[in-house]
Amino acid sequence: MALTKKQRATLREKFGGRCAYCGCELGEKWHADHIEHIGRTDWFARNGGKPQGHDYPERDTLENMNPACPPCNIDKHTFSLEGWRQVIQRSNDVLLRDVSTFRRAVRYGLVTLNSAPVIFYFERAAAHQATKEPR
Ligand SMILES: [Zn+2]
Repeated sequence: MALTKKQRATLREKFGGRCAYCGCELGEKWHADHIEHIGRTDWFARNGGKPQGHDYPERDTLENMNPACPPCNIDKHTFSLEGWRQVIQRSNDVLLRDVSTFRRAVRYGLVTLNSAPVIFYFERAAAHQATKEPR
């Protein structure tokens, strides 16, 4: 759906002008991410690259949108949140497997690995908000 200027401005401020996922400050170029994807990939493939509809048109709502930086939006692609979280969580394993420069950086202590769970910014923001609310 094409957002109005006002809807877009409201969506941008959903998490204080930050990416819902990594929490970086959104610049001029940011994306309205569909939290649950609407099936654009299949849709492009089936129609020779011509946009002709969505697999899940019912998900094309403002409520199903988060503001996202372009790298997060592109990386999330058609993953569910939990599927994408697992992909991100495996980052160190993939780097250790595939990138000798990364393995060297770890060996020499330039990079310290940790296995902290991946927590999206909107989850941290929600937890923060909950602690501020009066009981
Ligand atoms: Zn981001």
